[in-house]
Amino acid sequence: MDTPTPLDLDLGRMLERLRQAHRRKRPDYAQRMDDLARLAEAVKRHADELVRAVSGDFGRRSRHVTQSADLMTTLGEIRHLRKHLRRWMRPRRAPVNAAFLPARAELLPQPLGVVGIMAPWNYPIQLLLIPLADAIAAGNHVMAKPSEFAPRTAAVLAKVVSESFPPDRVVLVQGDAELGAAFSRLPFDHLLFTGSTAVGRKVMAAAAPNLTPVTLELGGKSPALIAPGYDLRHAAARIAVGKCFNAGQTCVAPDYVLVPRAQRDELARLLLAELRRLYPSLATNPDYTAIVNARQAARLRDMLDEARERGVTVMQHRPDQEPPPPGIELIPPTLLLDPPDELRVMREEIFGPLLPLKSYDSHDEAIAYILERDRPLAFYPFDRDRRRLRRSLEAVVAGSVCVNDTLVQFGQDELPVGGVGASGMGRYHGEAGFLAFSHLQPVMHQPRLNAVGLFDPPYGRVADALLRLLAR
Ligand code: NAD
Repeated sequence: MDTPTPLDLDLGRMLERLRQAHRRKRPDYAQRMDDLARLAEAVKRHADELVRAVSGDFGRRSRHVTQSADLMTTLGEIRHLRKHLRRWMRPRRAPVNAAFLPARAELLPQPLGVVGIMAPWNYPIQLLLIPLADAIAAGNHVMAKPSEFAPRTAAVLAKVVSESFPPDRVVLVQGDAELGAAFSRLPFDHLLFTGSTAVGRKVMAAAAPNLTPVTLELGGKSPALIAPGYDLRHAAARIAVGKCFNAGQTCVAPDYVLVPRAQRDELARLLLAELRRLYPSLATNPDYTAIVNARQAARLRDMLDEARERGVTVMQHRPDQEPPPPGIELIPPTLLLDPPDELRVMREEIFGPLLPLKSYDSHDEAIAYILERDRPLAFYPFDRDRRRLRRSLEAVVAGSVCVNDTLVQFGQDELPVGGVGASGMGRYHGEAGFLAFSHLQPVMHQPRLNAVGLFDPPYGRVADALLRLLAR
């Protein structure tokens, strides 16, 4: 980027204002606690409005999904931060090498300065406010960008932020991909981006000239692996719930299932039965979330059409033939039996309610299938054999794992959230979030009485003796 655009200049001025204010006075413990409390109050005050806004953005989104996965998670995170902040902010004692005693050392958590946060549309509240709260807890100022694909929610979030913080401490900027690109070119002290792997690459490239460190929370294909002999009914129940929560528009949703070949058809039957129990109807069912927009729905329908054209067996949960209300994009939960690997549904992250079932002949083959692909954001082994499970856990490197269930690892205060390899880098939530936005500054304290001067030039016999002693 050679010549800055007017957008670059506008954003640059905003960043400078946040930076100057941070230089003047960085938030102390009391300030951070107050800020977090005010943020929680504002979220509570606007909770109903936020639920309505998210539903408006999706066309229809389950109130229970927004309340649990967006609001409760955000408020839970803020509560957790406030509970532990005093301890996390304390200098951490570090040992010093024996030769330097009686010096002492510590690690002093320092705020980084101004943090940039870019959020996607799928959980538009928590994916903006949780990193924001973590960054505030660590004593930073923040510039945040919500997704342009959830504009009603972004408008309410703008109120939440402006009612909680003065504009030289936290600002929210709204815009599309062009603004996103300009945002990621800003010389932040740290940038957290949540979104697709493709855009994550661009964000990291844009941050590189500034040497801005990045946390990338990306996506990818998260496998569920059903071990031979596993109770299929239980696996079907937990996979159906995890796949259709928010209609599959969840970064850690199980993307596809690896199942022993002989059990594939029984699993398909049980999954469909479970999906019918969870969602007895679709068209008018408030529990079944719509696809966020026509572009995303078209992407999913294209994947499905391609599979059908290739002769893949497709099984759909269609309890009613009623059309959905106008303006809503509904895709029914859909199983695809053994789609070939070259199809889009097996190459790209699905991010919707399509679920491929892939047969395997041996457990080792199933593990090899996962290892040959990008490192997943989440891995869901269903296995009660402890030794085999341990082998799977040691073989697969994933952002996070949940054994015998789906999604719930995401809601734990002290399990960090983050990917690995193509699913991202860095981690946040809880103390990991505090640390992601802090610099643990090593500090050494030299006491008045110490032995270090013994090793100063001119080097003589004492220095030689010391070297001999230390080399042992
Ligand atoms: P996306 O990557 O398509 O878009 C994210 C944002 O990037 C957009 O709002 C846009 O404004 C901005 N953008 C577009 N082009 C840009 C550019 N060149 N430079 C900078 N910014 C640019 O993602 P999405 O569709 O909003 O979200 C879905 C993706 O997010 C999925 O891949 C999903 O797995 C992932 N995701 C990951 C997590 C996680 O915690 N790891 C959570 C939720 C979603």
